[in-house]
Amino acid sequence: MKNLLDGKKVVAVMKEKHQAAVTKLKAKGVTPTLGIIRLGERAEDVSYEKGAIKRCEGVGVKVKVMTMPSEATQPELLEVIEQVNRDSSIHGVLLFRPLPKHIDEDVVRNALAAEKDIDGIGDSSLIGVFAGVEKGFAPCTASACLEILDFYGYGLQGKKVVVIGRSLVIGKPVAMMLMSRQATITICHSGTQDIPSICRTADIIVAAAGKAGLVGKECFSSGQVVLDVGINFKDGKLCGDVDFVAAETIVEAITPVPGGVGTVTTSVMVGNVIAAAELVAEKRT
Ligand code: NAD
Repeated sequence: MKNLLDGKKVVAVMKEKHQAAVTKLKAKGVTPTLGIIRLGERAEDVSYEKGAIKRCEGVGVKVKVMTMPSEATQPELLEVIEQVNRDSSIHGVLLFRPLPKHIDEDVVRNALAAEKDIDGIGDSSLIGVFAGVEKGFAPCTASACLEILDFYGYGLQGKKVVVIGRSLVIGKPVAMMLMSRQATITICHSGTQDIPSICRTADIIVAAAGKAGLVGKECFSSGQVVLDVGINFKDGKLCGDVDFVAAETIVEAITPVPGGVGTVTTSVMVGNVIAAAELVAEKRT
């Protein structure tokens, strides 16, 4: 393998841009602020929250955390979202999902004001991605995939990309965003036959199924770029969907897990909070 697509290098460059943008905003009297809404104490949410707070504070973005018990009702959660929508000191909101089963996620994700939907969870943001218009924010993980490809200089014009996974969180939006950059996309999912033979024809593979080891040596061919979006735990260790050891002997470049797409995703989220605050600052002038 020629290239380890190290997310930390991407993050370092993004951090400089974010610090400069926050300094400008503060000079205009606006402190970009992220609101985090978390129900319950799920370990992965708490851990992501700690990382997000550190990344935000590292560039001068303020964070307000609103926690609720996991038994909170849907009306109680909607009331918190309404408060956040009205709170002009909060520019962007991160709502941890999946939500407890008694809450209708579709209702809740669409209750968040579009201009604060920095994680791209509402239909309004997704329409922007699917219609190819500037509207709301694209889901952060999908944007992180493009950030990595751009940073390492892998162009998309005319490339064959295989995306594994068709969720609204990552598979579908990343496919649309890559297509709008002139790539030709094949989406594989749980109903697809013979994923390895489809993968072998790809220039770029985006693995986002959430199945450890799904993308193994039979999926690779030389010269490929592999983005591993999966976050899984196997034998107590964090890993992606890609068999990294098999991939690194064949492909041109691959993201590690951890330290790849996930770490860039957090910085994309920070950048979206700053962008949301910039829109507010522009409206004030
Ligand atoms: P999801 O469960 O909503 O969707 C999984 C998708 O994978 C589905 O579309 C399904 O059709 C497909 N799939 C499942 N099993 C498959 C199989 N055997 N073969 C082919 N396709 C299969 O999950 P999601 O929210 O889209 O997340 C996917 C993965 O990405 C998870 O591991 C999640 O933790 C991770 N993730 C990472 C980040 C990040 O920042 N790195 C962000 C979001 C999600």
